[in-house]
Amino acid sequence: MPENLEGQYRLLIDAAPDGIIVVDGSGKIILVNGQAERMFGYPRAELIGSAIEALIPARFHANHPQHVASYIHEPRTRPMGSGLELAGRRKDGTEFPVEISLSPIRTEERMLVSAAIRDVSDRKRIEAEARRANAFLLSAVDSIQDAFVLYDEEDRIVLVNSTFRDMLGRSLRGPVVGRRFTELVERVIEDRLFDLGEESPVDFRRRWAGYHRLPDGAFEVRTHTGRVLRIVDRPTAEHGTVSLMVDMTEDYVRADELRRARSTAEAASAAKSDFLSSMSHELRTPLNAVLGFAQLLQRDRKEPLSARQLERIDHVLHGGEHLLKLIDEVLDLSRIEAGGVTISTEPVTVPEVLHEVITTLEPMAQRAGVSVALAALPSSTPVVIADRTRLAQILMNFGSNAIKYNKQGGHVRFEVTHAADVLRMTVVDDGIGIPERQRAKIFEPFHRAGQETGPIQGTGIGLAISKRLAALMQGTVGFSSETNQGSAFWVEVPIDKNAAPHLTHPIAELSAESTLVNARPRHKVVYVEDNPSNIAFMRELMEDFPGIELLTAPTAEIGVDLIRSHRPALVIMDINLPGMSGFDAAKQLSEWSETKDIPVVALTAAASARDRARAEDVGFYRYLTKPVKVDELMAVLEELLAR
Ligand code: ADP
Repeated sequence: MPENLEGQYRLLIDAAPDGIIVVDGSGKIILVNGQAERMFGYPRAELIGSAIEALIPARFHANHPQHVASYIHEPRTRPMGSGLELAGRRKDGTEFPVEISLSPIRTEERMLVSAAIRDVSDRKRIEAEARRANAFLLSAVDSIQDAFVLYDEEDRIVLVNSTFRDMLGRSLRGPVVGRRFTELVERVIEDRLFDLGEESPVDFRRRWAGYHRLPDGAFEVRTHTGRVLRIVDRPTAEHGTVSLMVDMTEDYVRADELRRARSTAEAASAAKSDFLSSMSHELRTPLNAVLGFAQLLQRDRKEPLSARQLERIDHVLHGGEHLLKLIDEVLDLSRIEAGGVTISTEPVTVPEVLHEVITTLEPMAQRAGVSVALAALPSSTPVVIADRTRLAQILMNFGSNAIKYNKQGGHVRFEVTHAADVLRMTVVDDGIGIPERQRAKIFEPFHRAGQETGPIQGTGIGLAISKRLAALMQGTVGFSSETNQGSAFWVEVPIDKNAAPHLTHPIAELSAESTLVNARPRHKVVYVEDNPSNIAFMRELMEDFPGIELLTAPTAEIGVDLIRSHRPALVIMDINLPGMSGFDAAKQLSEWSETKDIPVVALTAAASARDRARAEDVGFYRYLTKPVKVDELMAVLEELLAR
């Protein structure tokens, strides 16, 4: 070869990107290029003449000369990437993955082999990383508990997990990847995997395909084994679809159990309510007789009691009233806790409620020698959203405590303040206060904060009820107190933002003059009542009023006849009667023209909120509960007969 041409070949070989090594038939290196020098870390001079095994890891040495010999014997071109995992060995002993292509070179006198060698370390690393990422992805998809399937833009299955294979894959019979969505649907219907109920396979197929095309929400199916599957499809960015099939059976079972548990609880709660209501009735009826007759004895004008007897009867009344309050409060609290108290909120004018509460508290305050006052109200008081009766009950509790836990000459003041959203009513007293260690549990039922052994009667339930009632009205309660200085209990309720603030106006005074004693014309009063001792009590009570003629009826049926024939000025009606109830009787009376204007006053031991609500519907003139409070009954008679 001419000098010049050989130089050019040399340059060409050196510029090749792969290492090039030429060996002779005995495996001796006779030519290397620059890339091969760099790859193996040997200078060319060291390589020329050495055996090719120098560049091969020792573990391959034994068989290598034989490979070379057989190649020389039967030479053929072998391209790179023919699948063999080959390795090279650098001068420093380190190994690296290589790909080699071999070509025979036939010269005149001998056979040579040219090896083009490529270092594939980088490619192998990238391939290994890609394999790892792929394995991660597959194991992630496989660890999804729900069935997972990915479709490509032609709606062919690209990827599924084993849950999918278990659930639906078998229907496809054969490989799953590459099959179409429509084929899957077809096979699943054919195999009757799902319980279609009344739906025809055609409709079901249309509905599923429709959902798959434009997925919105979820698509639910039932299997024949009673399981519920929720299919959720979503489009992917590559215009394919990813579909999850979630087994919802447990959720359905749990929801069902929950529903059943709730209805059992509701039934139990209703039973408890009924029990409480009848218990209330049973307890109140005998108390009615005790308190009623005690009051009659106390007021008896024909045979007035001696001072000693009056004192004793006072004890009876006191004890009875305490018992009544206890029954009422325990029942009220249990009803609240059983969720049986319904609060009906409405716009409420606070000053009106405060006046009412203060008026009701006045006699008690007078007896205790405590003054009760309403502090100057803000120029305009916002209307609040509350249950009027229940708000008054809370204020009554606070107010009566402020009087009870006070001393002769003490003061109780009702105050009103408000922020943007809530109005606060505070009852401030300068009474005995609450010791610090007792304060934490004050709103818990039956905690009397050290008063358990004291002379002041109480049940320890009033504050607990107040707190719960306030919460039912979206309100809160709280207090501050200093021993021997006094306490301030407050309740906050939401302000009605739609109502105009209210200006206070004076409450009309009731006339104190009795029309009953002086009444000339005789008023007929019909009393419908089955309990003989209650009838006897009413008779004795009415004897003091010559203006009244009392007619009694032991059943509602007889009562209604009596009322129709006598047209009394007023009817007093018990509710729980043998046969027709007082509710039904009052309803009948309101339907006849000759009786519809006769006021009917309910007098009953049925004192639950439910009973009251019912009474309101029926349209009683007033709903009085037993035991009879003589003053209250008199006031109603007074009011009605004066008309
Ligand atoms: P009761 O008054 O029937 O005992 P409450 O639930 O109304 O029950 O009150 C619980 C306790 O809180 C009372 O026993 C009393 O010790 C204390 N308490 C409540 N209000 C006041 C007050 N204004 N001043 C002092 N102590 C009070």
